[in-house]
Formats: sequence, structure tokens, C-alpha cells
Amino acid sequence: MRRLPVYILLDTSESMIGSAVQSVRSGLSLLLNTLRTDPHALETAWISIITFDSDARQVVPLTELADVQIPELQVRPGTSLGKALGVLRNCIQGEVVTTTAQRRGDYRPLVFLLTDGQATDDWRQVKQAVDRLTQPKVANFYSIGCGDDVDFDMLSEVSDATFRLADMTPETLRKLFIWLTASVRSASVGVGMTESYNGLDMTKRPAEVTSVRKGEFRPWQGRPLQVFLKAWCIATKQPYLMRYRFDREAEVYLPVESHKLSDGGASSGFVDVPDVPVQLLMGSPPCAHCENPYMLFCGCGSIMCLPRILPREATCPRCRTTGALSEVDPDFNVRTSAG
Ligand SMILES: [Zn+2]
Ligand SMILES: [Zn+2]
Repeated sequence: MRRLPVYILLDTSESMIGSAVQSVRSGLSLLLNTLRTDPHALETAWISIITFDSDARQVVPLTELADVQIPELQVRPGTSLGKALGVLRNCIQGEVVTTTAQRRGDYRPLVFLLTDGQATDDWRQVKQAVDRLTQPKVANFYSIGCGDDVDFDMLSEVSDATFRLADMTPETLRKLFIWLTASVRSASVGVGMTESYNGLDMTKRPAEVTSVRKGEFRPWQGRPLQVFLKAWCIATKQPYLMRYRFDREAEVYLPVESHKLSDGGASSGFVDVPDVPVQLLMGSPPCAHCENPYMLFCGCGSIMCLPRILPREATCPRCRTTGALSEVDPDFNVRTSAG
């Protein structure tokens, strides 16, 4: 039996934390449940999921549609596009049966890449990974970039077609996954009829998704549009991640929301990143654990939440130093995490 391998590459960088990653999980479950009602898809489609942040990993090996389990998606800093493409190449090499004189192999894999940021790894590594996927071409590759940070020219190097979702909301992500589902479904019908197939069903493309040609969209060149600061709750001593959005007109960072971080491996990655002057931060989002409205910088480099009624002194949840609040240095530069 010839299979149609479908590889889904998901950006799990920190900017996906919260509703985006939840919407992507619901999108995946919609895709699987819908495809499972289709006899053509059940017969031919095999699914694999690769996630990437500071590293890349295959979280679902190429699996028969009926048996795919949706993985938990862990969010970490970084957007290692080059590593993701490298993992994809290795997986295709190891999992997809090629056609030889003796046997008919699988159909050419269908790849969907979903990302919301610029690659943070070395461009040479990305270039090399692109070359290994395209010379010779080993997959039909479609990229969907979400938001304003995406380097579409880089994506178009590896993609047969590149698309942009301007606004990433639960509703637009749901529509995106309905479209991808329809495309896999028509591809799984198409492969049965002819040797070639069209990867994406353009007739079902939602209005929110636009096609982007090379050189058409310039990514934002100024300060990062989002920054993420790791902080510690003074009450629970648990870590959380504060999200800020850059206001291009006012040129300051506005607080958006906080997200709890699990105390395990996921939160330990949020280090080693560029600096943002604290003067540009307009306050802080409430603590994700106790809703304290203020933040305080400790000399050890940690940020902690503070209650509305300021205590006279505070003990840092990280270094256990107790200090009077008047010692706060307003010019302190905060270490942020790069998404
Ligand atoms: Zn707190
Ligand atoms: Zn401290």
C-alpha cells in the first residue's frame, strides 16, 4: 500500500504560550477527527508532528491516521527553523519508502509548517537544511507564517507556497486547520487517481490567510514586537512568564498577560537573551499565580511580583536576599527571553 506521509511542523517558541498553543492543539484534534471520517484519508494518510523552539524534535513519528495521539505541546524560547528542517529531512529519509525499479514507494510527503517568528539559529544552518530538502526536492512544502515577525523570504526558499495569517486568534487558527484538513483530504483522494496531486486546496482557503510571494512582505526591523520576562511569585515562589507587546507608535512595551510556567524543564530554558531597558516597560501584567499588580527587580537578576500595598521590604524567591524597597535601581536592564 502506498502511503501519503503528512508532516506537520509546529513552532513552539515562547510567543505561542497560552491561547495560541491551546488553539493549535484543538486544531490538530479537529484535523485528525475530521480525516478519520474520510475513507480515502484513512487508507492513505500517515501523520507525523515535529515541534521546534530552541531545539527541534519529532513528537509523533509517522503514524497511521487512526492511531495518532495528540501530544502535549511544551513551550520554550527560540525558533530553530534550521534544526526543524534538519529533523524533517532525517525523518523523511528514515520513514518514507522511496520508489525504486523493484518497488513502488510512498507518495511524495506533504509538509505544513506553522511559525510566528524569525529563525533564531544560524542562517547558514537554515540554508544548508533548505538545500538538503530541495536539492533534490523531497516533499511538497507549504508554510504559514503568523503575524509581523515572520521572515517570509526565508520560508519561501523551502516552500512551494507561503501564506500569511495576519492575526493569530483561536478563531483564525481554527479556520486555518479546517483548510489544512480539507487539503489533506483532497490530496488523499487525488493520489488515488493520478500520480501527481496538488498539495493545498486553494478553493477552501479562508479569507484571513493570504498568499505571500518572495520579496512581498518585509518583516519588522525595529525592536522585538514581543518580549517575555521570566518572573517569580513572591507568595508561591513559582515562576511565570510576563508577555509584553511593543507599541510601534509610542515605542514602549505594554504589558499583555502572564502565564504560569511549570517548575520543570520548560521554565529553565528562559535565559540567555538580549536586554531591554526597563524604562520601556510600562508596568507589568498581574502575577499569573497571585495576581499581584507590581514587579520588583532583585540584584540577582530575578524579577518578583509585589502586592498593591507595598511591603517595606521584600525577600527574593530566588536568592533569598531581603532588601528594603527603596534600593530598587530604576536603570536596571532586564534580561528578556528571545522568542
Ligand atoms: Zn505572585
Ligand atoms: Zn534575588
